[in-house]
Amino acid sequence: MTEDNIDQGGIRRAGEILKRGGLVAFPTETVYGLGGDALNPESSKKIYAAKGRPSDNPLIVHICRFEDLYPIVDHVPPEAKKLADAFWPGPMTMIFNKSDKVPYETTGGLDTVAVRFPSNKIAHAMIDAGGGYIAAPSANRSGRPSPTVARYCKEDLDGRVDMIIDGGQVAIGVESSIIDLTEDRPTILRPGYITEEMFEKVLGDGDVDIDHTIIAPDSKVVPKAPGMKYRHYAPRGDLSIVEGPKEKVISYINEQCAAQHAAGKKTGILCTDETRALYHADFVKSAGTRSDEDTIARDLFLILREFDDENCEVMYSESFSDTGIGMAIMNRLMKAAGQKVIHLD
Ligand code: AMP
Ligand code: MG
Repeated sequence: MTEDNIDQGGIRRAGEILKRGGLVAFPTETVYGLGGDALNPESSKKIYAAKGRPSDNPLIVHICRFEDLYPIVDHVPPEAKKLADAFWPGPMTMIFNKSDKVPYETTGGLDTVAVRFPSNKIAHAMIDAGGGYIAAPSANRSGRPSPTVARYCKEDLDGRVDMIIDGGQVAIGVESSIIDLTEDRPTILRPGYITEEMFEKVLGDGDVDIDHTIIAPDSKVVPKAPGMKYRHYAPRGDLSIVEGPKEKVISYINEQCAAQHAAGKKTGILCTDETRALYHADFVKSAGTRSDEDTIARDLFLILREFDDENCEVMYSESFSDTGIGMAIMNRLMKAAGQKVIHLD
């Protein structure tokens, strides 16, 4: 179905499944979600089991009306109202102190709860039909790239979910920005489409912190968003990011791919429209154009999945800016590469 042509019968069936404790994979504007009733502890346990997700990695609760926030949180700070006015419905998750209504099975044992009001209309209809509170992590097996098309939900979760709603390729392609409002200062825990600059425009210049484990992981510092500590988004082969002057990056990647190919390995390259024609490997894919990094976010996870479909064993990716949406792209890419970066100068 599409956002302009919602299959009401399908939505009704999804709602019934959710209300009786079942699981439904569904499109949002960020990535596909694996939904279950957030207020039913048994549903949340099923989500963890279906994903193979560690039980200390909390779920995001999805709502479809701002006022539905009040019953599940302890208190709505003024910053939350400002941010909701600016970015909801949309790709932003806010962390609050939870109310008793939200079971610990949903929050991974935490006293805080992550809440998002997505903008995708299929998601709205399904959340509403399912009772208004849908816990939904990304609809992939734990550790795999998040699905941005329905076929990858099916690949990971077939037989583990009761229904998959196909809504085509998602619009944004990286998960929501997460901002924690339970500390003295609002803190970004995960970068996404809503950038630091956008948050500061609403809350005031210099009034937003960033959890620095986001871009420069340090094994001694534990990220505040529990999920950020896990290896994530990884294709099966060996991915490295190559950083440096454009010409050097291109010749290095081509040389490495030629050598790997000669050694019998299947090679893959993630590049951009600007460089696509200059590379040689078994599988070369442009994620989009550097003049609009939103296009790169949209296709990033798709290409990481395609590396696996093509049985690539050794892969190289160009590097991206760490500002704006680039920060979200690099955060995902670094995890996918197990932090392997080759610097050329
Ligand atoms: P996913 O649903 O796969 O996008 O993952 C949800 C992300 O939200 C994980 O990285 C969690 O660690 C983070 N998250 C959810 N709830 C909380 C919370 N209460 N405090 C901090 N981070 C959270
Ligand atoms: Mg995920």
